[in-house]
Amino acid sequence: PVTRRGRPDRPPVGERIEMSEEILLEARGVNVTFGSGSAALHVLHDVDMVVRKGEIVALVGQSGSGKTTLARAMMGLQPVDSGSVVQFRGEDLPTRGKDVRAFRKKVQMVFQDPSAALNPKLSVYESVAEGLRVQKYPGDERARVIEALEEAELLPAENYLGAIPQEMSGGQRQRVVIAGALVTGPEILVADEPVASLDASVRGEILSLMLSLRDRLGVSALIITHDLGLAWNIADTVAVINEGRIIEHGPTEQVLLEPKHPYTRTLLDSVP
Ligand code: ADP
Repeated sequence: PVTRRGRPDRPPVGERIEMSEEILLEARGVNVTFGSGSAALHVLHDVDMVVRKGEIVALVGQSGSGKTTLARAMMGLQPVDSGSVVQFRGEDLPTRGKDVRAFRKKVQMVFQDPSAALNPKLSVYESVAEGLRVQKYPGDERARVIEALEEAELLPAENYLGAIPQEMSGGQRQRVVIAGALVTGPEILVADEPVASLDASVRGEILSLMLSLRDRLGVSALIITHDLGLAWNIADTVAVINEGRIIEHGPTEQVLLEPKHPYTRTLLDSVP
């Protein structure tokens, strides 16, 4: 049988912080409708989703299936229909004030294209420090920026502080984007197609980094992707979404090797 542990691109487990049963982020019966009346578009249908501590979840599905809308709803960026429940550590997501800032620290988004995510005029230092300033970080800003760059394995971090995006490779830029997300000490990264815009040669490095963040720091991730190979390589669990419904969610081996749902099989058959 195929086992993922034998794959050469999987880094050694080392002192991996084990995935626990502790639920960090959870959606229960989530519905999202855009517009109203005859123009209403019902995009998410009774969606349940969990992200546990130390877990990488891949949310896979075709374009237009509702992946981004679900991720935004789970970050409090997308209003949900009444009756829907979205919680972080068992509490409803805050909607205003100080609590929103505290929540934003814990759940950070990493966007697809580092060139679009980084201000071309800002140095690495300024880009990464931005997140701390929004949070009114009371500690030593420079020390924390360097630490975040080290966490994102952009080394030696001091050498990059003054660099601007144009002087860096796509992979280095994505590390700066990730450092900018890590700087507030998040428990979860929500990543929308985090490697789709990168060259094949650096994709593996960024995926290894996400595994390493999980293993070293216990950072969970919800990774939105249409790439089943990516899901296979790094996800602990895979959730399949089709036309706004989660049709399957389970351990990666189970979902990708023994899919229960015909749609998942179709999706797998479409992989070259
Ligand atoms: P995916 O991320 O899987 O490609 P999305 O969540 O972006 O899917 O979109 C799901 C559906 O919702 C699509 O039909 C899209 O056109 C629609 N949609 C997304 N955002 C909006 C919006 N702000 N207003 C209206 N329709 C939207």
